Order: sequence, then C-alpha cells, then structure tokens
Amino acid sequence: MLPLLTLDHVTKMYYTEAGEFLALRGISLEVWPGEFLGIIGKSGAGKSTLLNMINGVDTLTSGEVVFRSNGQEVFVHRLSESERARWRGRALGIVHQSFQLLPMLTLLENVMLPMDLCGLYRPRTSRQRALELLRLVELEDHAHKYPTQLSGGQQQRLAIARALANDPPLLIADEPTGSLDSTTAEVIFRLFERLVQEQGKTIIMVTHDTTLIPRFSRSILLVDGMIVTENRNHAAEADRQTDRGTPPPAGSDSRGTPNGSRPAPGDGLTRPGRPA
Ligand code: ADP
Ligand code: MG
Repeated sequence: MLPLLTLDHVTKMYYTEAGEFLALRGISLEVWPGEFLGIIGKSGAGKSTLLNMINGVDTLTSGEVVFRSNGQEVFVHRLSESERARWRGRALGIVHQSFQLLPMLTLLENVMLPMDLCGLYRPRTSRQRALELLRLVELEDHAHKYPTQLSGGQQQRLAIARALANDPPLLIADEPTGSLDSTTAEVIFRLFERLVQEQGKTIIMVTHDTTLIPRFSRSILLVDGMIVTENRNHAAEADRQTDRGTPPPAGSDSRGTPNGSRPAPGDGLTRPGRPA
C-alpha cells in the first residue's frame, strides 16, 4: 500500500513588509489510508499553513505534495489553478473552524452544491445523496431549514456532511471544534471517529487540544514550522490495519453493524518505509 499523501521537504516562506518569514521549515510526512492524524501545535506554529500546502490553496516555496487515489498520483503543486480546484473538489473534504456555510441556501442545498459543481452525480442522485448525508449527521429533519436556524454544533455537522458530498478519501479539518463548547466538540470528534472507523475515511485534523492526542491514530506536534514529535497510538493503528472492512456507502444503514475483518492487503502491523 502507498501513502494517500506524501509531503516531501515542504517549506513555506511568507514575504511581508517586515521581511521574510519561514513558516514551514522542511516538513516531510506520509499519511496512510484510514489514518486519523492529529496536527497539534500552539497558535502560530504553522498548522493552517501546513493544511494550505496540502489542499493547494496556497503555493509552497519548495518541496512536493503528492496525493494518491484510485491508482493515480497527483503532484498537487504542479497542477494549474483550475486543475487544482477540480482535484480539490473531488479528492478533499474541507471543514473549517467557522463552518463557512452558505446562509441563503437550505441545508439540503448546501450539501448538494459541491456535487452540482463537481458533476460526479446526476441532480436526482445528488439530492438523494445529500439527504443520506444529512441523515448520517442526524440533520435530516432540518433539511429545508437554513444554517442560521441551527446551533453551532449542528452547523458543524452540516459542514461535515457537505465535506463528504463528493465522497472524498481525505477530510481536512482546521480546528473544527475550536468555536464549540466541550460537549458539542465531543459530538463532532466522535463523528470524525465514526467516519474513520465505519467509512474508511482518512482525516487530518488540526487542534491545539492536547487531550485529544490519545484518540488520534497518530499525532504530530508542530513547533515553529517543524515537526518535533510524533505520537503513535499503536492500538488504534492495529485496529486500522487489521479491522477495517469495505467502507459502506455514505448514509447507508451500517451504524450498528460491526466492520468486516478483512485484513489490509499483504501486510501485518508494519508498513514499509515507516519508522517502527
Ligand atoms: P497556526 O495555524 O498554527 O496558528 P499559521 O499557519 O496560521 O499558524 O501561521 C504560522 C505563522 O505564519 C505565524 O507566525 C503567522 O503569523 C504567519 N503567517 C500565516 N499566514 C501568513 C501570511 N499570509 N503572511 C505572512 N505571515 C503569515
Ligand atoms: Mg490556524
């Protein structure tokens, strides 16, 4: 198996009136399918900058970002801007701290929009799929309301349903619980855990909440634009590598069913190219 994502010596320099600022100092990282990776670090450490290198929203100064899915390898920063936008729409689901929903669209329309923009699904299918995703995040009863009629936690659940619209393999979330109270934050975190366990999604989540470290399958600590420590949750990794069955389709009624026990192809508990 190959990594879903590889970052190879990524650096990012910002040029400001005050001078040059090196926000990322050579980040090398592999993210494997089915990982729930936490990126931990204080404010200003470079977490959002790192995500913007992964999603190709901002240009990098040097290095390479490679994304692999369906047997295809995409060098994210070698794409043109329009190619990159197309790639992003299919490959990534992005969740923001501030939700970034469209207030003039209903919940259903918010979730349908990425599908309509991307063209992977026919209109009837996208409507059906949007309803299934709203059911997955337990908002189906509110499908025809508007985002402003929702609580913060509900808005974030809607944003997650929207992020799943085109069934991307990778979800990227920048402080998704940062504006929520702790009880609501826990609901959102559990939803991410379920998406990894039940749908086989790979998730990269930025947070400064260090209490979450044991719950990620792996976490990295970012300090001043460098990875200083990596924490691997061996139990979660073993689960991921031996327990994950075929991901069910979004919204299918699979919540209560145990996952299949099909082992990951061809490997035990170690992966080539990774430090033990
Ligand atoms: P974090 O998300 O970990 O809080 P950021 O990635 O937003 O950190 O920022 C890392 C550093 O880069 C900070 O010192 C920040 O001030 C600086 N920075 C971020 N964006 C820009 C920008 N567009 N121009 C100049 N400096 C920036
Ligand atoms: Mg940030």
